[in-house]
Amino acid sequence: MAEFDTDLFVIGGGSGGVRAARIAALHGARVMIAEEYRMGGTCVIRGCVPKKLLVYASHIHHEIEDAAGFGWTIPQVSFDWPTLIANKDKEIARLEAAYTANVEKAGARVVKTRAEFEDAHTLKLASGERVRSKYVLIATGGAPNHGAPIPGIEHVISSNEAFHLPSLPRRILIQGGGYIALEFACIFAGFGSDVTVVYRGDNVLRGFDDDVRAHVRSEMEKEGITILTGCTVKSIDKHGKDFTSHLSNGSSIGSDRVMFAIGRHPNVANLGLEKAGVGINPGNGGIAVDGFSRSSVPHIYAIGDVTHRLNLTPVAIREGHAFADTVFGKRQVHVDHANVPTAVFCQPEVGTVGLTETQARAQFTHVDIYKTTFRPMKATISGRDTRMLMKLIVDATSDRVVGCHIVGDGAAEMVQLIGIAVKMKATKADFDATMALHPTAAEELVTMHNPTARHVRQAAE
Ligand code: FAD
Repeated sequence: MAEFDTDLFVIGGGSGGVRAARIAALHGARVMIAEEYRMGGTCVIRGCVPKKLLVYASHIHHEIEDAAGFGWTIPQVSFDWPTLIANKDKEIARLEAAYTANVEKAGARVVKTRAEFEDAHTLKLASGERVRSKYVLIATGGAPNHGAPIPGIEHVISSNEAFHLPSLPRRILIQGGGYIALEFACIFAGFGSDVTVVYRGDNVLRGFDDDVRAHVRSEMEKEGITILTGCTVKSIDKHGKDFTSHLSNGSSIGSDRVMFAIGRHPNVANLGLEKAGVGINPGNGGIAVDGFSRSSVPHIYAIGDVTHRLNLTPVAIREGHAFADTVFGKRQVHVDHANVPTAVFCQPEVGTVGLTETQARAQFTHVDIYKTTFRPMKATISGRDTRMLMKLIVDATSDRVVGCHIVGDGAAEMVQLIGIAVKMKATKADFDATMALHPTAAEELVTMHNPTARHVRQAAE
């Protein structure tokens, strides 16, 4: 009898697990992958993909509003939430099937069940089956936090439920100031819901560049979204189908939905990690791993959100691929987590790569800032009250562009490409030498010739 039933057992069929299973199988490994819910994981089933479909749908309302200035008369329009949700669900089911088919085509066996460690090499499936594997990859992702158990917490939905609401909320209160909270706030506002965002910090999008945070807040407020900072939801009462949320600042807000998007935690509970000897990173609560995603047990690896490093789909995929190449492809691959471009698909959207101004000024002695805000050309005729923000952060000693932050239509698409330049260590002189593409918003990125601020850090600081 063979010592092991399989070479690799992957726990979790999300972005990272699926990529790792597929590549390991293509390298010739015998692979099993267990998924307890739906293949594709958070990104495909209840994250990036359904979210972006809702973002597209909510933007159509803007297009309709903007049309009048361009001469279009559009008769009374109406929006049907159940149709959108049904069409979104159809697309998600198609993707789920494609994920399963692709991983099976590569030769991996998919088991639709929960898996937990019984010991460092043995996995127990919900069916009772036991599998002994030479290597194990933990790719169990993360889940929404609900925070402290306040009175009425049972009435609160998370992003998971927001994708399946039977009807569009007329009024929704969203607690949270991160990207998921703001994206849903803008989605619902785009469909005409009355939206209030409640956030305990001093401004939304903690961790982003301060100019981006201020700009996004003011643009969202112009769109009619109420943003209350410096307070939290203390309790929630239910009256029939409606709720009243009582806030720490003494005010109360009525709504027909209350959603919390206050962070996510890595899925490490009830996995039997202690039986396998797998250690947790005390700093972030995720599985502790080294630069090659190897856990405290040499044949057990962990990738993606369960490690709580940089919780983004492309990062999980890259980590899964690197793991498979390193362990089964005879090629050690290290994942570089620096300068990862990211977006917030709020309205207007944010694209960002590299350092914020605060980070750059802490890291470099001479920092030049190139910043502009302007009315996008489309808004001149549509009459929409909106402005774009573009900001480049330059290490003035080396002339390298170390950060780029954009708020406005197309920001995410622009920053994906600027990410290449930043990764290649492009200098401000390289940006200046690039001819503008006219008329675009992006041309501002290569035509900001004079710094708007120069910061020199004195040695004593
Ligand atoms: P996941 O995709 O979460 O997959 C983990 C899988 O493991 C799940 O399917 C789960 O059911 C399964 N599982 C857990 N425990 C077990 C077990 N014991 N046995 C069997 N199966 C198990 N990222 C972006 O890059 N861009 C975005 O725009 C973006 N938007 C997002 C929007 C929302 C609302 C959310 C919630 C997330 C978003 N993300 C986005 C983050 C992105 O979805 C995650 O970073 C990514 O899915 C992580 O992949 P993963 O493989 O680590 O885990």
